[in-house]
Amino acid sequence: MTAPPRVVALVENLHPHAIKLAQELFTAPAYQLLLPPAENWRESAHAIVMRTGSLTREDIETAKYLQVVGKQGVGLDKVDLSAAKEQGVIIRNTPGINATAVAELVVAHIFAVARQIVDIGVRQRNGEVFQRHQCSGLQITGKNIGIVGMGAIGKAVARMLHDGFGCTIFAYDPFLADDAWSDVPHTRARTVQEILPLLDVLTLHVPLVDGTRNLISMTEFKAMKQSCILINHSRGGVVNEDDMVTALKEQKIRGVGIDALVYDPPTLEKYGELWSLPNIITTPHIGASTPQTQSESACAAVRNVWEFFES
Ligand code: NAD
Repeated sequence: MTAPPRVVALVENLHPHAIKLAQELFTAPAYQLLLPPAENWRESAHAIVMRTGSLTREDIETAKYLQVVGKQGVGLDKVDLSAAKEQGVIIRNTPGINATAVAELVVAHIFAVARQIVDIGVRQRNGEVFQRHQCSGLQITGKNIGIVGMGAIGKAVARMLHDGFGCTIFAYDPFLADDAWSDVPHTRARTVQEILPLLDVLTLHVPLVDGTRNLISMTEFKAMKQSCILINHSRGGVVNEDDMVTALKEQKIRGVGIDALVYDPPTLEKYGELWSLPNIITTPHIGASTPQTQSESACAAVRNVWEFFES
């Protein structure tokens, strides 16, 4: 008797390259492929491939055939990892693939905040006429950059700013072995606090977990130089947003660049006050949003599921 096919469900709309790859790999009679949005996947799927959505305890407990999840991207904060562990469901993400795209957006935000590009540009379009002395900015070349979280993205940012702009890198990552990273000169910090007063830019690249929630709050804002720029492209809860608004209003720091807010996607209702402040720029979680990165990471998520069954 032939075994019933393994059901693989693409539960979110993936890059077309990944859908094509899944159609080539997961063929009958060994597999049955459910194309996006595969809404009824919980009833039959042995594997799912997902992108940015949530995977709750209820999903995992209801899906009684589920063995493996191919998760596009690196962040797992919307996946109930303890439920997955309890039910023996393997979660495979695609670490590192989006690092270059995210790091490029980080660098873009640093320069945009340093030179007030968005604020000045919008006001100019609204008819304001500037004198050049009103638009004085911060030069980034040679400045001190603090990086919290030296994983794939933190390292890519460090390389770009060190190699490209001669910046001095201060790194804080308590989980990184001493010899784990040596290809870009940097100073290792033992705490975030010890480097704050030195920094011209602080950029955050940690997962959102209990130990990183509100990592940057009023105590940290007070310790930063008034000229410091904060960049958060990790997850919203890593920075205390109420304290950030206060810090910006009281000009405790120069400005902020954010790609990840607590309410995702951000709306005017939630962020009207924040967006009324001059030197903050936000983007709606688009760090990995280049077709190249989307294609590569979605294909990697599909391949992860294939390798789970075939190797
Ligand atoms: P990674 O796993 O390669 O690196 C994360 C690093 O953070 C690790 O080196 C880890 O040791 C370190 N870390 C963990 N807890 C820490 C703490 N308390 N203090 C300091 N360091 C700590 O992940 P990555 O690919 O570099 O991504 C980092 C984060 O960026 C992701 O978790 C995700 O939340 C976010 N992200 C955002 C986007 C975007 O579009 N804006 C895209 C991808 C990832």
